[in-house]
Amino acid sequence: MNNNRIHTKCSVCGRDRFIHFKGEYAEVDTLQDWYKEYHPNLQFGDPVPNKCIDCFNELKIGDIVKKRFGAGSHCGFENKGAITKIYTSGSDTIYKVEYVQENKKQTTLLARVELLKI
Ligand SMILES: [Zn+2]
Repeated sequence: MNNNRIHTKCSVCGRDRFIHFKGEYAEVDTLQDWYKEYHPNLQFGDPVPNKCIDCFNELKIGDIVKKRFGAGSHCGFENKGAITKIYTSGSDTIYKVEYVQENKKQTTLLARVELLKI
């Protein structure tokens, strides 16, 4: 096992990432300390749940978005669209996106995993 390697996995889209811990860029000296400081609920060496660069942004009304390639939706939304409404209940959120297809305005509902902010 490489003791300086951190395995992160995006809790939204599932993307895996492996990061080499570099003490010189961190506020703490060792990876063990990094776990204690930033992920106190995890054990040293555990995979770290996070949000990747594509999922990190909070989406808001008016944002221009693109449908993420490979995300499972049956709608025809493939180019860009705009978020026109956000529905939230508890910790769950879905997004209404307006887009143009064949010169007609259309709307669809998408989950966060299906959206990329552009
Ligand atoms: Zn992600």
